[in-house]
Amino acid sequence: MQVTEIYKTLDYSPAPESPEQAIEWLKENKSSFGLFINGKWLKPKSAAVFKTFNPASGKKLATITEAGKAEVNSAVNAAKQAFPKWNALTGHERARYLYAIARQIQKHSRLFAVLESMDNGKTIRETRDIDVPLVIRHFYHHAGWAQTLESEFPEHTAIGPVGQIIPWNFPLMLLSWKIAPALAAGNTVVLKPAEFTPLTALLFAEICSLTGLPPGVLNVLTGPGNTGSMLVKHPDLKKIAFTGSTEVGRIIREQTADSDKKLTLELGGKSPFIVFEDADLDSAIEGLVDAIWFNQGQVCCAGSRLLVQESVAEKVTDRLKARMAKLRVGDPLDKSMDMGAIIAPIQKKRIQKLVEKGEKEGAEIWQWQGTLPQNGYFFPPTLLTNVAPASTVAQTEIFGPVLSSMTFRTPDEAVMLANNSAYGLAASVWSENINQSLHLAPKLKVGVVWINCTNQFDASAGFGGYRESGYGREGGHEGMFEYLKLKKGAVDSAQRLKVKQATKTDKSGQYQIDRTAKLYIGGKQTRPDSGYSLPVVNADGSLAGEIGHGNRKDIRNAVEAANKASGWHSLTPHSRAQILYFIAENLETRSEEFESRIMRLTGLNKKQAAQEVQTSVSRIFTYAALADKHEGLVHQPPMRGLALALNEPIGVMGIICPDEAPLLGLLSLLLPALAMGNSVVLIPSRPFALVATDFYQVLETSDVPPGVVNIVSGNALELGTILAKHDDVAGLWVVGTMDECKNAKKFSTGNMKIIWTCEGKELDWFDSQQSEGREWMRRASQVKNVWIPYGE
Ligand code: NAD
Repeated sequence: MQVTEIYKTLDYSPAPESPEQAIEWLKENKSSFGLFINGKWLKPKSAAVFKTFNPASGKKLATITEAGKAEVNSAVNAAKQAFPKWNALTGHERARYLYAIARQIQKHSRLFAVLESMDNGKTIRETRDIDVPLVIRHFYHHAGWAQTLESEFPEHTAIGPVGQIIPWNFPLMLLSWKIAPALAAGNTVVLKPAEFTPLTALLFAEICSLTGLPPGVLNVLTGPGNTGSMLVKHPDLKKIAFTGSTEVGRIIREQTADSDKKLTLELGGKSPFIVFEDADLDSAIEGLVDAIWFNQGQVCCAGSRLLVQESVAEKVTDRLKARMAKLRVGDPLDKSMDMGAIIAPIQKKRIQKLVEKGEKEGAEIWQWQGTLPQNGYFFPPTLLTNVAPASTVAQTEIFGPVLSSMTFRTPDEAVMLANNSAYGLAASVWSENINQSLHLAPKLKVGVVWINCTNQFDASAGFGGYRESGYGREGGHEGMFEYLKLKKGAVDSAQRLKVKQATKTDKSGQYQIDRTAKLYIGGKQTRPDSGYSLPVVNADGSLAGEIGHGNRKDIRNAVEAANKASGWHSLTPHSRAQILYFIAENLETRSEEFESRIMRLTGLNKKQAAQEVQTSVSRIFTYAALADKHEGLVHQPPMRGLALALNEPIGVMGIICPDEAPLLGLLSLLLPALAMGNSVVLIPSRPFALVATDFYQVLETSDVPPGVVNIVSGNALELGTILAKHDDVAGLWVVGTMDECKNAKKFSTGNMKIIWTCEGKELDWFDSQQSEGREWMRRASQVKNVWIPYGE
């Protein structure tokens, strides 16, 4: 036999990783686990139990306790009691614990890798070489944030006890993404792992005990969605961090709407994998293997939509099929397997159904031809070609090893197809033309762009999505802010500014002609669609004028105008700054006019009114200054490459203005949004709307492009709700009553808007620490990480 023939017939021998240590650990625990509450293991006799299985064999691994109401209360209480002491530790003291956790995981890394593989069905190659190393790196990295917390985040402090809920696809890795920043920042934690994969979280709790982590700082509650739901609704938790499906994310957003819980949502995805004709096609094919067959495609950011340039589509499909044929699917503990098992029969059925639907809708199917193991839940690597962009398999997250392929002709078409998704988690771009890729990256509405690579993660680079993929970032500098709050935040508003309402509309005397201030939409003063106006009274009760009563149609027009003004974002930050300075100049020229308007409407004296106008001018200067200074970061993750963390605008933002400090309050909200490149639909304070309508005359003379600022006066609760429901509004800020804040959160789940509200509290608009600066620039932006490998 010739050597070439030997190569052709050579097959892999089994290369099994021993499960012995993991089996031993299960035995030590009699394959039965309790809950980890206040540093102790608890197995209440009355509690229900459930089982966890090995997806590769279908065999039971262990019996797990289901946390009910009493256990949820005890765990939250333990976290609440532990919080003050934990938060009072120095950064260095907390850093030592995080460092010790990293060391312990490192020491037990093989056990973690094997156990994860057994509980989840993913290959040992992935748990050993990707998941566990990333977990260790995460704890080391965050030991660093704990150490430097006081100097790096001097204006911030921990939030309190937090609830964290994670899915089954990366049980240990997502645990670390949640727990490490929370503990580093000084919070305490109640974590609920997914019901399919609780084991590594329980081992992690055991490991934490070895480090002497104080009781109550970490609590682990196992259980189904219902246990998670109890955490979400628990009044003593100050934040919920959730990773899971968009469907459950929506429920959680609604359930937390009437509380002041901070919320981050890491949800589903349908990420595009874009291959240009000038790409290194062999590398791109290898990239695809990592994009969609990594973890059996059960990856939120899986490159599940292949967009390939038409000129190379056939070549790519052929090479891909040849590569797919060589994939190895089988025992996850075999070190030479590419793909393991699907998490559970229910998930396998769902994948099968979606594939069938894809075929019915016209897709052509090509599947791996190997033999799947008899036991366990395996699904063959699958390629769907001829997929229509609007079809189910192009739009729905399949969460399985199924790639849907489409073609494009031009870069613009690629962007259009890539953005034709409700999700916005990640994208891969493959081209040897780096200029083209970097040109594309900002146009993709996603939180992460991988250029000539895919599924890269690092603790230093934030991860998270746009649109229905959720909001908030995990990892890095930006991820730390999700577990911190300003030391000096809003205060309870015992009494909002009392405003006199007109009792009668007296149009005699002052008003001989129509003085109704119009709406301001698309750079033009327009009459409200309703044809109605609302009276505005001065502090002395006399009629000051009338404002337009905006309605749904006016908001629609305003959002459309704001959408068209996206060129604002493309201006250089320097140009935006110049326009902001011009606004300051024009406001100052008319300062007397604004002072007297404020005096008449609010009853303030001249000195107070002048102070508000002068502070407003200064505030404009601040944001003109920050417009070109709130820049991104360059990360150096452990690869030959860089990750650029870019601060991008949110898009079209709705802003509901406060009644306090009518000019300064409005500007304090509007300016950071503008400085970051957002376009805005602004609802001015109902009683002081005339200040806003005076202000659009300043905008008109300051070169602000049409549509960048739109002002619709009317009832804030009504207009805010319309904005919350509008799918072309990407972010919404509300400074108003508790009801206005609650509505914004509750009705914003259609497109998962980024919401910030004052929670019915008051801000001191004259205090630059809480009402001005980078915190607001951060709120007005979202971070996109662009990964760029270098070298040959
Ligand atoms: P899931 O939403 O069904 O469950 C996730 C977690 O939420 C589980 O722990 C579950 O018990 C819990 N849960 C379920 N209902 C709940 C409720 N009403 N209240 C509170 N908690 C509840 O998701 P899954 O099937 O476990 O995971 C797959 C999903 O997770 C996919 O959509 C995937 O894209 C997403 N995911 C996102 C990311 C990301 O970073 N964006 C990462 C991994 C997975």
